[in-house]
Parts: sequence; structure tokens; C-alpha cells
Amino acid sequence: MLRSWLSSGTLISEFVVIQVRIGIVTLFPDMFKALTDFGVTGRAVRKGLLTVEFFNPRDYATDNYQTVDDRPFGGGPGMLMKFDTLKQAITRAVDCIGEDARVVYMSPQGEKLSQTAVKKFAGMHNLVIIAGRYEGIDERIISLYVDEEWSIGDYVLSGGELPAMVMIDAVSRFIPGVLGDMQSAENDSFTEGILDYPQYTRPECADGLKVPDVLLQGCHEDIANWRLKEALGRTYVRRRDLIKNLALTDRQEKQLAMYIRETDSQKK
Ligand code: SAM
Repeated sequence: MLRSWLSSGTLISEFVVIQVRIGIVTLFPDMFKALTDFGVTGRAVRKGLLTVEFFNPRDYATDNYQTVDDRPFGGGPGMLMKFDTLKQAITRAVDCIGEDARVVYMSPQGEKLSQTAVKKFAGMHNLVIIAGRYEGIDERIISLYVDEEWSIGDYVLSGGELPAMVMIDAVSRFIPGVLGDMQSAENDSFTEGILDYPQYTRPECADGLKVPDVLLQGCHEDIANWRLKEALGRTYVRRRDLIKNLALTDRQEKQLAMYIRETDSQKK
């Protein structure tokens, strides 16, 4: 385990339990129950590997209406998140989560989230994520308090809560101990720059379609080669942009060439 983890990890006997602590600035903390109460992420929270804390701008509103939105200068449709209440929630989040926390704003204008970025965030144990609402947030909040802007895709949602959950779910798969087998995340699509290979479970024959023989024969080397060939082939067919960005090893070149030969001969 890396030494640097020791400062934030909890030492249990000889094992260091790595924790990722995330502060979320949101007007709708209850939405995150979907993340904290279910599945892999729920288990990560229960095991103490992932800590999620909420900072609601509404808690800093001082008027009777608990106002958290404001009109944009220059007019135009919609409202923005109110400067003061948002600033106070972010400042409090950084105070609680740690001065070294990266502050991330989920935004359709940010860099598109990738497996590489997600893995990087799993290595940072303190994070503050801002979920925007309305038509977004004041540009000065971004200049003064935000370190990074990340988007989950080229479409616009009504709020940053779902994007924040997407990010946290993906990050949690890389926290050691969250998945039963750490290899699962390493084998996932994109981690090695390519898509995952096809998977099968019982029965051996379903609705007339058989599981490929190689997976039933128990030869680990053959299975590994077949999986590599299928993963590369599938990436070549579906996401040639990914293949173009890779420097393939000799073994990968050979498996991809075999895939292309086999599919070409099937077409004839
Ligand atoms: N007017 C903004 C724009 O066009 O860039 C969109 C505001 S959107 C209605 C409200 C909030 O949802 C944003 O502040 C952001 O936090 C979040 N959001 C919407 N789409 C997103 C995306 N694709 N990725 C990340 N966050 C998104």
C-alpha cells in the first residue's frame, strides 16, 4: 500500500484501509440515497471506504424564503445559484473535507469524464463536488473556488446531482476493497484503453446459442488470448478512435490481426 495513504487511511492491524472522503455541495442531498444506500457504492459507504458528506447552500440562506437562486445580470431566461449561499457551502465543505481537497464542478462545459480521470480521482482521498442547479453558477465562483470542471457527456441535465453520482460511482470501483475482486475494475472497459470482452454465464446453451468452446475447456492461456482478441476486435469494430490512440504490443497486434482475419473469412 502506498505510504501517502497512511495519513488519511485507518490502520487496522497490518492493513491500511483507504478512504475516499467526498463533500457534496447540493440543494438536494436526499437524491444521493440512490448512491449511499444501494449496491456497490452503498457497501463502500457501509464499510467506511467511502464517506459522503453534504453541504446545502440553503442552510446558509438568511431570508424568510431561504432563497438560494438569483437573477442573472444582463437578463435572460432562468436563474443562477445565489453567489453568497453557494460560496458559504463550498467554503464549509473545504473546511470539513480538508484544505487539500480538489474542488470539482460538474458542468456540461467541463472536460468529458473518462476512466483515466475517474482512476485519478480515486487516488485523491479528499474531494469536494459541486452540483449546480438552475442555469448554473456565477463565473466568479468557478474562477475563485473551482479546481476542475467535468462533464458526463454532451447533453444538459437539470442538475449536477446525477453527474456527481455518476462520477462517485465510477470512482468507488477503484477504491481498494470496494469490489470483491480489484481485478474487476482493472478488466472493465476503458481501463486498459479498450472495451471489455464478451461474457457468458450458465446455461451453456441458451435459446440455441452456445457459449464459445474455449471458455469451457479450462485452458487459462487460451482463455486469456481469446478474451484479448475479442476485446480488441470489439473495440476495433465499435470504437476505432480508442484503438488509434493505443500503441499495441506485439501480442495485441497478433490477436487483433487474428480477429480481423476470422471475421473477414466469416463474411466470405
Ligand atoms: N446553462 C448551463 C449550460 O448550458 O452550460 C446548464 C445548466 S444545467 C440546466 C444545471 C446544472 O446541471 C449545471 O450547473 C451542472 O452542474 C449540471 N449539469 C447539467 N448537464 C451536465 C453534464 N452534462 N455534465 C455535468 N453536469 C451537468
